[in-house]
Amino acid sequence: MSQIPSSIIPCPTCKVKNRIKQFHFDKIPLCAKCGTRLVSESENKTQVWFSESLKDISGIPDPDFLGES
Ligand SMILES: [Zn+2]
Repeated sequence: MSQIPSSIIPCPTCKVKNRIKQFHFDKIPLCAKCGTRLVSESENKTQVWFSESLKDISGIPDPDFLGES
């Protein structure tokens, strides 16, 4: 339930794999080794939108079932 979606993104410059735990609208993830931007601004927004939509799904309550009263 509390699993945080994370992504592994290889650096386009030095090929180091970076683990991104969370994306932010105003922060573009940088390579931990060389500082290159791992995604473009529009890709970053897509990732933020995607993780937000996952949160929405996990926030949906379980349905009520009709039980015997
Ligand atoms: Zn790099």
